[in-house]
Amino acid sequence: MRRTITALACCLLLSYTCTAQRKLEAIYSDVALFWHAFDQLQHAQSKEDSIRILDQEYIYKGSAGVQQFLQGRISSGKYLQKTISQHPNYYTYLRSHTTKLNKILPRLDKHYKRLKKLYPDTDIPKVYFVIGALNSAGTIQQDPIVGVDMFGYYPETPKQELSPWLKSVLRPIEEIDVVVMHELVHMLQKGNEDTENTLLKKSIGEGAADFVGELVTNSNINKHIHDYGNAHERELWHEFKRQMHDTDISNWLYNGLTSKNRPGDLGYYVGYKICEAYYQSSKNKKQAIKEILNISDYDVFLARSGYELKLGQASR
Ligand SMILES: [Zn+2]
Repeated sequence: MRRTITALACCLLLSYTCTAQRKLEAIYSDVALFWHAFDQLQHAQSKEDSIRILDQEYIYKGSAGVQQFLQGRISSGKYLQKTISQHPNYYTYLRSHTTKLNKILPRLDKHYKRLKKLYPDTDIPKVYFVIGALNSAGTIQQDPIVGVDMFGYYPETPKQELSPWLKSVLRPIEEIDVVVMHELVHMLQKGNEDTENTLLKKSIGEGAADFVGELVTNSNINKHIHDYGNAHERELWHEFKRQMHDTDISNWLYNGLTSKNRPGDLGYYVGYKICEAYYQSSKNKKQAIKEILNISDYDVFLARSGYELKLGQASR
């Protein structure tokens, strides 16, 4: 009996230690696998042949990340072949940048440790990096999956094959770790599922991912929006406040393509500023992070942030 208890205690201790030291594993073997298949495409005799190569050499051999990225994204070898045939120069250009992943992805380990320090409940064992069909930078299935194909955008990228939407969402690969951390913060958020998806709720959700992501990476995927936001903060707030209980988010979020006369996605900015005010006014920073990630009442959160008051004082 005594032996059993001791063994059990050791086992518990061991599992606790493992959890506490757990690292984030970045799995990117699918990227090399894809390029291997891509090379074989040049010897394909027909479209059907190309589809077969992509199916057999990439999709069937791919990791669990590729399998999870099929539905609604890569779809099939047939769909991937069509996408590649419509964007041959882009994929070819992308390749030279994906070789940087082995230098960039080790940063994730550092970011993850910082995130875990800020929010000890963080428990995300792995993230997959795959090449997709130019329709998604990432998703969260059983695991987070990142579409590396969306990270080949540079001034010299061949753009003639790219749709306006792609031109607005593609990014350089150097930003991939910051995007990943934004997505991982989303995984930690336990917002109130029962409340309506208002502009306030959605903007705080996005702003929190940017804010906590920035604490961890010292960078922000929406830096360009902040320049405009800081210059127009008060007028933006008044406009936002009038609409924040509506469920129509089309003027504030995911509107990079349709926004006229000002940058899209300014809801990220307003949400960020609310979270920033909440964090700054909190004495216990660790507790503040916990509260930012576990919001049950968005109006109460906004009031407690003191954002509006702060803004009023700043304008005096
Ligand atoms: Zn987001």
